[in-house]
Amino acid sequence: MRGPELHVDVGRPRAGALGNAVSNPTRLEIPDGSPFGTDNLPYGVFSTPGSAPRIGVRVGESVVDLAATLGDDVFASPSLNAFMAQGKPRWDEVRERVGALVAGEVPAAAVHAAAAVTLHLPFEVADYVDFYASEHHAANVGRILRPDAEPLLPNWKHLPVGYHGRSSTVVVSGTEITRPCGQKARPDGPVFGPTERLDLEVELGFVVGTGSRMGTRLATADFAEHVFGVVLVNDWSARDIQAWEYQPLGPHLGKSFATSISPWVVPLAALERARVPGPVQDPAVLPYLRDDRDRGLDIDFALRWNGQLVSYPAYRDMYWSPAQMLAHLTAAGAACSTGDLYASGTVSGPTPGERGALIELTWGGRDPVDVAGRPSTFLEDGDEVVISATAPGTGGGRIGLGEVAGRIAAARQ
Ligand code: CA
Repeated sequence: MRGPELHVDVGRPRAGALGNAVSNPTRLEIPDGSPFGTDNLPYGVFSTPGSAPRIGVRVGESVVDLAATLGDDVFASPSLNAFMAQGKPRWDEVRERVGALVAGEVPAAAVHAAAAVTLHLPFEVADYVDFYASEHHAANVGRILRPDAEPLLPNWKHLPVGYHGRSSTVVVSGTEITRPCGQKARPDGPVFGPTERLDLEVELGFVVGTGSRMGTRLATADFAEHVFGVVLVNDWSARDIQAWEYQPLGPHLGKSFATSISPWVVPLAALERARVPGPVQDPAVLPYLRDDRDRGLDIDFALRWNGQLVSYPAYRDMYWSPAQMLAHLTAAGAACSTGDLYASGTVSGPTPGERGALIELTWGGRDPVDVAGRPSTFLEDGDEVVISATAPGTGGGRIGLGEVAGRIAAARQ
């Protein structure tokens, strides 16, 4: 797999190098209606030619270098982990300082055109867990795989179903995805070769800023103290490998070859206006999963396949909330850590146009969809998938969560 990361052998940037610069101050131009207005301010890790990766904030069409403007070494780091580990009061303080900074004049040398920087994986991924929180997705998959049975398994409305994924193969948007090989079932025994049912999954990922000790449980009310922000996730899936391997222990190689995330981490604080009640949970959940605040997030996704819009999943109907997922994740005493990523599972809405995976959109490969004139079921070599999303911002418009993109490369035989 070839990533877009630059491996530059230069020294770490010096925090505050421009902190006292008064020459060439510039005022940021933020186009009207920009998805990266001052009510968004997502964090990422970027580099420019010949410079080391460091932390920046996206504003309009610019990236503002925080290592150069805030005078703090924590932003000279090539990942968000050290900053995230400082905790929520610090996140709030920095968000306020960045808001004031970008509203005024910024040293020109700390401002880079977003189109000209290289974006890197924004944090070191500690543990990775993937949930299955959409009732519409779980029910559709149940109907496809078990047409004669109840669509939902008996546990589904009692706990947020999930599995432990593979953090070392989480990659940043733009990384090429090599078609995986694996075992595929055949009538006279399995064969080994490239997947013929390569799929995508539109998901939202939650990034843990401050963790918890092994043996302790986090409550749903602890969510905002521990979760720093969100990223877009594409959980690439090889359905034929998955179908043969998954019983009885769940997904393994069919989902561990690559998981792509967006480069910008949108802070939870930017999503305050996106909170919505979410669906009624019936039957009532067990006490440790009670979450009485607005459980939903009003986020609209768009899924493009070779440039064509094929689906527009909405997050607001997700059955399990991210706070419930976090409470469940730690319910048995598992620790969580700075940099943990847990994803929602495929985001699918109630209508066919809101399905967030090809297995659903094509109903298991039975009903091809038109992709720029090509009847298509699963991903072919050279195909490109782009997932983007927006949400109501606190400023009255819509903020962007950016995009997560990936192109499929041929299998290595
Ligand atoms: Ca998934």
